[in-house]
Amino acid sequence: MEIFGSSGTRGVAGEEVTPEFAMRVAKAVGTVRGDGRVAVGRDTRTSGRMLADAAASGLASVGRDVDRLGVVPTPGVQAYAAREGVEALVVTASHNPPRYNGIKLVGSDGIELSVAELERIEETFDSGEFADAAWDGVGRAEGVEGAGRAYVEDLLGAVDRSRIAGAELTVALDPGHGAGAATTPRFLRELGCRVLTVNGQPDGRFPGRDPEPVPANLGDLSRLVRTSDADVGIAHDGDADRAVFVDERGEFVSGDASLAALAAAELDAGDAVVSAVNVSQRLVDVADEAGADLELTPIGSTNIIGRVRELTEEGRRVPVAGEGNGGVLFPGYRLARDGAYTAARFLSVLGGRRVSEVVAPYDDYANVRRNVHYESPGQRAAMLTAAANRAEREGATINTRDGYRLDYGDAWVLARPSGTEPLVRIYAEARDIARAEMLVAGMYDELVEAKAEI
Ligand code: MG
Repeated sequence: MEIFGSSGTRGVAGEEVTPEFAMRVAKAVGTVRGDGRVAVGRDTRTSGRMLADAAASGLASVGRDVDRLGVVPTPGVQAYAAREGVEALVVTASHNPPRYNGIKLVGSDGIELSVAELERIEETFDSGEFADAAWDGVGRAEGVEGAGRAYVEDLLGAVDRSRIAGAELTVALDPGHGAGAATTPRFLRELGCRVLTVNGQPDGRFPGRDPEPVPANLGDLSRLVRTSDADVGIAHDGDADRAVFVDERGEFVSGDASLAALAAAELDAGDAVVSAVNVSQRLVDVADEAGADLELTPIGSTNIIGRVRELTEEGRRVPVAGEGNGGVLFPGYRLARDGAYTAARFLSVLGGRRVSEVVAPYDDYANVRRNVHYESPGQRAAMLTAAANRAEREGATINTRDGYRLDYGDAWVLARPSGTEPLVRIYAEARDIARAEMLVAGMYDELVEAKAEI
């Protein structure tokens, strides 16, 4: 797939993601996916309305009626799609910087389209064979009010309200000027939390911080937690399908640690949990402890969702899945990442304890990374062969779904070619930093040696 990567299509607005592009994607979607209404929602980016207008025109031009939802979190659009039984197109670049935008596609079950479905749309996009409607078959576009409100109602019906209200929490919230700014504060207030916000006004210029919820962007949230004595800090990305946390001292909680804490509360023996090949040892340990199977996919939410679907069809229970970037799925609720829902589940897990206490078992891990650059495809191939040979020799459990991941039980190392740069990334994780460094050094030396021989 060229257009739709592992998490939708994204690029710089007006350069790669133009109105023409959005219209063409929409025409392809409208052509391939048959008839009926299509919902169009967007995050707060300055280019959002322009692209949503183009997409709505494209859909109408192939005879599809359009529900215009306006600014709604991606999971809110997914909730609307599931409730109304309509497909949806979301104009969002998720956590990318403000100049970016993109498109995500959702089926009438509220779940992101699968790789196979996206490939069919991409073929039609390329061929340009659209089902253009005659003058009397053009679709109508209508504005729909209250999609955000209905999403909050859905959320309130899906979480343990009394448990969260009983804890009387003060929550510092940083929606980062994104689509969650209009919904998550209301949701948390109705859960009985006292809510303080920073970067709380929807603003496509993102004046307070960039949309990605990483420590470098969350200084304001940490300060708000400390100065207000809040129990927890919560931050979203631009389309609010992710949630990351700050503890009561204002310290950033790694997404790997919060995922491990959430998974530990969900998993029983015989369950499966799905994550990507760069999964933290924290989740490996949590799955082991629970007697659950950890299934690893290539990196990206589309791959994780595909694997959860397969396992569920095989009759497996998959209560939780996701990655260490704050993108967590609770398939029993919906097979979609949802920042507000994830935040509420995290508040439930606290159960009167401090955040730092809850994540303490998952704090004490060491991560080491190193890159090896290459100059030619031959060098790249030689390094990957070396990684494969090492995997075979070491007697570790090997996963080759995306690069080479060697699991040693107590630690792991992954060698994975970058998708965008000429380098192979080496990652390792262990409880002990010396062990992680040793695993990276062993892999690094082997790759550098293989490269030198070319
Ligand atoms: Mg996102």
